[in-house]
Amino acid sequence: MPEHLTGNVLEADYLVDLSNVVRRPGPRGPGLHRLDQVIDALIDRDHDPDVVLYLVADRSLPHAGLPHADTRTLRDWEQAGLVELLGDADVRLLELAELTGLSVITRDRYRGHRTEFPWLQGNKDQFIEPFIERDEHEGHHGYQGPDGPESRLLLRDVDMGIVDDWNISRYAEHDVLKKQGVLTRFDVLERAWRCPHHACTLYDRDHGSFVLIPRIRAGEPTCELHGSRLLDEGPRPGAAAMKVLVDRRCVDRFVIPSGTEVVVGRAPVDGYSLDPWLANHERLKVSRRHFALSFADGNLTIRDVSTYGTHLQLAPGSPLTVLRGTERILGVGEKVRCTRRITLTRSGRRFPNELRTKRAQLTTEDHEATQ
Ligand SMILES: [Zn+2]
Repeated sequence: MPEHLTGNVLEADYLVDLSNVVRRPGPRGPGLHRLDQVIDALIDRDHDPDVVLYLVADRSLPHAGLPHADTRTLRDWEQAGLVELLGDADVRLLELAELTGLSVITRDRYRGHRTEFPWLQGNKDQFIEPFIERDEHEGHHGYQGPDGPESRLLLRDVDMGIVDDWNISRYAEHDVLKKQGVLTRFDVLERAWRCPHHACTLYDRDHGSFVLIPRIRAGEPTCELHGSRLLDEGPRPGAAAMKVLVDRRCVDRFVIPSGTEVVVGRAPVDGYSLDPWLANHERLKVSRRHFALSFADGNLTIRDVSTYGTHLQLAPGSPLTVLRGTERILGVGEKVRCTRRITLTRSGRRFPNELRTKRAQLTTEDHEATQ
């Protein structure tokens, strides 16, 4: 299971509300076996055997009546930086969801957090709920999963709905602050941070293989441990992550570091080679240098350098768009079609520019809905 976990939220495909996922009662009681079931369901959902999760849990979770072996596992994961254990796991999850645009696996609706995180209102595309098949079909025992009669765990997208007693005046205040540019949360991921407290290395980029994302308190990056405002250490080089899909299964991933260009094709001199995935009859369709991906100023750009053009599918089922010697920004969910079988797509993370646009749209819609 640890192979599916990461301590670097920027590498993750999903955020997991671990306490919520493992605590659901059942014949086997709460336990990490529920996380196993979620991972299996995500692998099915995404056709990706290497799905990567970032776990956030309540500090009390290891003492929450879990089997002893699970408590030990959680401690090991905490030591290895593979789970964040906090007093306010819900807030942390929503903070990370806001900063990265990643989807959250949870059954919670966070009804008490709508003022602080107004983008939860009416959100339909960022929360995924695990449920047990038998919950829906009482008395159906066709499938005997690892939980015995409890049956199989499935996932579904959740409409977070609008909470009625939502405090509009506080939301309005928040909105004013945002317009004044006080809350520039999305940029937090693009900067390096340091705690002013002596010897605190919690957010140190030279410390270990991953960097913990700062907490946001009153709109300011803050140390979780010391509560101090963090010092801005300048820009942090980011990277865009790409997935290679063959027959709709993810077979490989690679990154495009900020400020660089990666050429993709049948045989680029240095770049990403599609050769291992190409069948013989496909080789003629892919140029040696087919297209170039570059990541700069928070945008991933694709530029055609091929002989016959690069095909893009901008939405499921939509006709293909062709680039011929031209470039455009590649968005989340947009696919580069190399052959009928082979496509490239971005990982789940959204970039700050995209989050700004998305939240701005949501905010406008909410206002129209409530007025
Ligand atoms: Zn600190």
